[in-house]
Amino acid sequence: MKARFLRPVVALILVIPLFFTGLPVHPVAAQSGGVYYIVQDNDSLTSISQNFHTTPARIALANYITDVNFLAPGTRLYIPGFDDLSGLLTQTTVAVGETPLSLMRQSHSDPSAFYRLNFLTNPDAIAVGYKMYTLTSESPSADVRVPVSSGQTALELSVTNGVNPWTTLIANTLSGAWDVLPNDILYLPSSAGQAAEQVLPGVTDLSINTLQQGKTAIFSAQVSSDVQLSGSLDGYTLNLSPQSDGSTLALQGIPRMTVPGPVSLVLTVTQADGSTYSFQQNLLVKKVDYGYDAPLTVPSETVDPAITGPEDDFLFKTVAPATATQMWSGIFTPPVVNPNCRPDTFGKLRSFNGSDYSYFHSGIDFCGGVGDKIFAVADGVVVYTGQLDVRGGTTLIDHGHGVYSGYYHQSEIDVKQGDTVKAGQQIGLIGDTGRVTGPHLHLDVIVGDVQVDPDEWLSGTMP
Ligand SMILES: [Zn+2]
Repeated sequence: MKARFLRPVVALILVIPLFFTGLPVHPVAAQSGGVYYIVQDNDSLTSISQNFHTTPARIALANYITDVNFLAPGTRLYIPGFDDLSGLLTQTTVAVGETPLSLMRQSHSDPSAFYRLNFLTNPDAIAVGYKMYTLTSESPSADVRVPVSSGQTALELSVTNGVNPWTTLIANTLSGAWDVLPNDILYLPSSAGQAAEQVLPGVTDLSINTLQQGKTAIFSAQVSSDVQLSGSLDGYTLNLSPQSDGSTLALQGIPRMTVPGPVSLVLTVTQADGSTYSFQQNLLVKKVDYGYDAPLTVPSETVDPAITGPEDDFLFKTVAPATATQMWSGIFTPPVVNPNCRPDTFGKLRSFNGSDYSYFHSGIDFCGGVGDKIFAVADGVVVYTGQLDVRGGTTLIDHGHGVYSGYYHQSEIDVKQGDTVKAGQQIGLIGDTGRVTGPHLHLDVIVGDVQVDPDEWLSGTMP
């Protein structure tokens, strides 16, 4: 009699947790063993406890530490508060091509565990360069990243790569073969035999330098010949051009006035059959302290938007096209005889006639008297010469890949549109034309239609 009543009750107890957890039921039961962290060189009990939202005293107590001021690098620390999880905590810096999902899968972490370990509430808050904790098994295996094509299931992906589909499900904490979306990235065990890490189909070795206000972003990737790659950075279309070494390169200026914080990198691959595959990731723009100029007083018409607006529009339209050939080589040549005398540098915030500091200095000012020589900073083709209201006597030179140099306030222009010039060639004379307080040469360097710090180009080889 008793057994007849007990059976339904036991069944209920077994079933209820599956409904209440709301998480995929994994093919293997999780082993509880707690999480551990290996102490690194610069760690202290305080920094570690802050990272895991606990207290130094609690960690010390749990690890039988008597001297809280001494913590040897390499010590294996038990981190309290995660006893339902098990594994070794590893700090990973988010790289280009990584998403919270791919980080979880790389470490075979359960999504809920990943969010808890990083105290994350919003996955969009993650950007390249952020440090995240992942939980790895104590015997990690090398895996291969594989992107999911449109319409492909985990089952098809596994079969194509010669991996047991069940292994793929376990490795990626998937509840079933249906549980993948196009554009997802899955990890397959290394036995899958694929060598290169792919961010998108046919795209490997993606790299980008640290983004900074007023500096040049250098993007490169290996792109296989059967796909077309396009992309944008913070809304600017990337001028992607194939290089002689087989890589694809794009240079893009980061505007001086970009608000420091995340900007969006979007990449799209078009395959031979016309199908497309996109990828988006946040990258962080870092603040650069360029400083301030003393308040400036100039004739009001030279800061009148009715005059400066059309002139800026004309300038940016002229330097928008990206010529495929790179014409410069190595470091840019100084544009004047004495390049170390500079009344003003790039990026300083400016106030004109009592305005707020909403303007910035778009290039470098070099000393010089009316009639002193101006030289081209690199090989290129002259795309404009003429008189502008603010910039005065102006020459614009195209150096290829969307890189241009601009020379303003000239008293004489010695080249004409269409001329090919060499680095160091005299192209004009210094003057005091346009919006100036005295004679000097103003040099702009423009990359991807954005003014950048010319010193990057005058002091180092780009890219
Ligand atoms: Zn200037």
